[in-house]
Amino acid sequence: MPEEAGEQLGLRTLEDISALILQSHDLQETLDNIVNLVAKRMSSEVCSIYLLEEDGETLRLHATRGLSRLSVGITMKISEGLTGLAVEQRGVVATDNAPLHPRYKYFRKTKEEKVLSFLGVPFFERDRPIGVLVIQNRESRTFTPQEISAVSTIAWQISSIVSNAKLLDSIRKKEEERAFYAAEVDRLRKGGTPKEAVRGNRKGAGSTALTGIGISPGFALGKVSILHHRGPAEEAVLERARPRAEELNLFHQALEKARIQTIYMEKRMGEILSEADAAIFHSHLMILEDRGFIGKITALIEEGVGAHRAVSQVVEAYVAAFARMEDPYLRERSADMEDIGRRICDALNGHSRQKERLRDERIIVARELLPSDLAIMDHGKVIGIATEKGNRNAHAAIMARALGIPAVFGVEGLLKRVGVRSEVVVDGNSGCVYVNPDQGVKQEYVRLQGEFDQKQRELEEIRDLPARTLDGCTVSLLANIGLLSDLRVAHLHGAEGVGLYRTEFPFMTRSSFPTRQVQAVVYRKVLEGFPGLPVNIRTLDIGGDKELSYFPHPREDNPFLGWRSMRLSLDREEILREQLAAVLIASVGGRCNLMFPMISGVDEVRRIKGILEQVKEDLLREGKAFAPDIGLGVMVELPAAVLGAEMLVKEVDYLSIGTNDLIQYTLACDRNNPLVRKWYDPYHPAVLHSIKKVADAATAAGKPASLCGEMAGEPINALLLMGLGLRSFSLSAPSIPRVKEAVRRITLEKAQLVAERVLAMESAQSIRSFLEATQRELGL
Ligand code: PEP
Ligand code: MG
Repeated sequence: MPEEAGEQLGLRTLEDISALILQSHDLQETLDNIVNLVAKRMSSEVCSIYLLEEDGETLRLHATRGLSRLSVGITMKISEGLTGLAVEQRGVVATDNAPLHPRYKYFRKTKEEKVLSFLGVPFFERDRPIGVLVIQNRESRTFTPQEISAVSTIAWQISSIVSNAKLLDSIRKKEEERAFYAAEVDRLRKGGTPKEAVRGNRKGAGSTALTGIGISPGFALGKVSILHHRGPAEEAVLERARPRAEELNLFHQALEKARIQTIYMEKRMGEILSEADAAIFHSHLMILEDRGFIGKITALIEEGVGAHRAVSQVVEAYVAAFARMEDPYLRERSADMEDIGRRICDALNGHSRQKERLRDERIIVARELLPSDLAIMDHGKVIGIATEKGNRNAHAAIMARALGIPAVFGVEGLLKRVGVRSEVVVDGNSGCVYVNPDQGVKQEYVRLQGEFDQKQRELEEIRDLPARTLDGCTVSLLANIGLLSDLRVAHLHGAEGVGLYRTEFPFMTRSSFPTRQVQAVVYRKVLEGFPGLPVNIRTLDIGGDKELSYFPHPREDNPFLGWRSMRLSLDREEILREQLAAVLIASVGGRCNLMFPMISGVDEVRRIKGILEQVKEDLLREGKAFAPDIGLGVMVELPAAVLGAEMLVKEVDYLSIGTNDLIQYTLACDRNNPLVRKWYDPYHPAVLHSIKKVADAATAAGKPASLCGEMAGEPINALLLMGLGLRSFSLSAPSIPRVKEAVRRITLEKAQLVAERVLAMESAQSIRSFLEATQRELGL
């Protein structure tokens, strides 16, 4: 068969099989359809699919075209015949004269006519063989490498549906088991006698498998900690009326708890942010220890007011008093008072912030996780995260990846299934969450964890090697960071600088706007974290899904299309000026670049540049030094910026494509809305042509373009993006080693061929199938 035809067979058939899989809900029907299709496309008399039984030794014929239909269900040992040989040697068996092969065996049960040529391709679930796809011809026929490769790809597709079907089957069995137990318990309560099965081993009867979106890779198995977000209304309901002495005692206990928590927060903020940030908690501590403050509350309790109400009344009075102050610094302290009041009330209600309760390693389970929740958590003890809401592009997801915590978001019904005593498996790779897993599932995950750790060790070995293709093209792999603690993670994974520093995180973890001095200290730490390497500091990007507790945001019907990011910074110019001044002051600490988010056109860029010049002049007048060579970059996140890329690039030193937002805005698809998840597609031709256009505009202007969206974190995407012309990526640090490993195994030539093919395709589905096939072909 000519080379091109072999490839055609693979690609077309692959697409058709994908379609079959999508349409079908039944394994048998799908396997029947596949054997018919493959036999036709391969012009073969026989095509069969055998699956390996649980014992790992018996093969059972599940679907065939060409053999007698009555033979479906027959079994054979893997020690017999050529099909068994494919399993035994875990590889392809091909011969143009089967009867001459030493392992040939004629199976009378199949009523097969004598066939000469035989091709058997085993398929695997992870590393375990689970079946064989067999093709036979009456004529003697030599199978070409292209045909073998095409059939191997088809076999791989079959393996994924077989694994899925097995998983669904085991879930169905578990559900049947649960229904059986529920009915039995009901019967017993009505006075019946137990059936044998119920008296037996009931272990695992409560086990549940749920699925969501794997947003941060890795596995975790352990006890849970359930994170509750409560509203003020709920707090009011919790008001108690107890004897005075008891209320006083409760108040003092709560005060002590809040005090210890505040000392802890001060220490923690110092570690992950800066000492200057931590100082805020020191002032909280002083208030919590202030005799006047405590005296006012206890006096009210002595008068018969409940502890909760007494704290609220005193705090409200302080808040009002601070709010009336002339001095803006003191005025801002009213927010701190609210925070302190909330902390004491939390302690009174028996709630403490999550990190305090984590005495040992836990999996965090929540309805939703906000970036600020994650910022204050005890990262060392959070071994996994599972939530009901959120998806890959939520900021908490980005942070979880940066921190290397395995996480699954968007798990429907999670909170209904998980109790405080539950044990949970979080599989961030596949998006599965098992609640109270039985022994078999646990063992499987311990094994997977071992394999995962081994892979991580292999990746560490290439940490300090360049990301260079086999034909000598080098790409830069930088890290996306948000917290100071991300710096350590970025170094650990061999980042060559910071491609995107999201400055909103230090703003989010505070209770008021940080001053320029405080900001400058944090920025300088980031710059000094990567001496001599580029650090791209992005100006504040709040709004959308990122809010600051102390900055009231108007309610908007479409916040992602609203007052966010650079629009907000330009409307509140003082915020932007302070931030630019802080970055300039810090810039002497390293190789600093400034990046502007959500830009739609040159007018905004020119206005920002004008403000920057004024801020520079002010600093010069004040005798403050700053680096003379700060590079300026625009983030390409709006279709308007794509269309205007040629104009924008003239205004700045570089472009950085933010695909998280670019996909959302190009496809009109909220990046956090699970209802439109399937429409949010990085492989949509409009997205890929946009990236190409931006890369071309930068190349034509002789300036660099990089990409800092989550898209670059997948090895196959990095290959495609290189082919589209990009040479620099900024990604979650834990994804860097995998991408580097992939880059080192490919050639630029191949990347360009792949990109060329993809750009010629019209459907996202075809692009996905083609990239999946390429990924397997290259072993990425
Ligand atoms: C992006 O939009 O791709 C991006 C990197 O910015 P963020 O995710 O912070 O919005
Ligand atoms: Mg963005």
